[in-house]
Amino acid sequence: MYTYQLQDSLYINLTNRCTNSCVFCIRKKPEGMGVDLWLNREPSSEDIINEIPNPDLYKEIVFCGYGEPTIRLSQMLQICKYLKEFKTKIRLNTNGQGNLIWGEDIVPVLAEHINAISISLNAKDMKQYNQLCLPENKEQSYDAVIDFTIECQKYIPEVCLTVVDTISAYDIEVCRDIAKKLGTNFKVRHHIK
Ligand code: SF4
Repeated sequence: MYTYQLQDSLYINLTNRCTNSCVFCIRKKPEGMGVDLWLNREPSSEDIINEIPNPDLYKEIVFCGYGEPTIRLSQMLQICKYLKEFKTKIRLNTNGQGNLIWGEDIVPVLAEHINAISISLNAKDMKQYNQLCLPENKEQSYDAVIDFTIECQKYIPEVCLTVVDTISAYDIEVCRDIAKKLGTNFKVRHHIK
């Protein structure tokens, strides 16, 4: 499934590839999200655009699926260019490793196309991040997420750091403090078991 609706929002599932393999990832649950988001092939931007003839029907359109959307940055931006002709809000849910993935700062170009971004912080430090998110790049990923967030704060109107409530209440508060210091919003996501 390339797009799926949850409440008033439409979600775009661009890829199943990800640079993390989080222990709590919904992709690891046999029942997943209740909709089949495993892709036989990655959709083209035209495939997605064809599924959204009326973007203004939705409160928000969100890039978020069983994978990291920024891995398919150019397709994502092409879809955003189409969506920008409408009024609906565009949000990216990301693991925050876009700059690490591309080896350059992609935030200014993202900021031209999206209104809001949710970045998965998930951990209070690198050690915890590596234990929970199992990133491909254990040396650089956590710091890259923090640096990416700092850049997003400069250019994107709504920035939110998120954690999943698998960590302790104390660790959640440490993460909340990190968000506060960086000046972002903060959200605790419930772990779907
Ligand atoms: S970053 Fe998101 S898609 Fe990637 S493994 Fe973690 S929870 Fe799953």
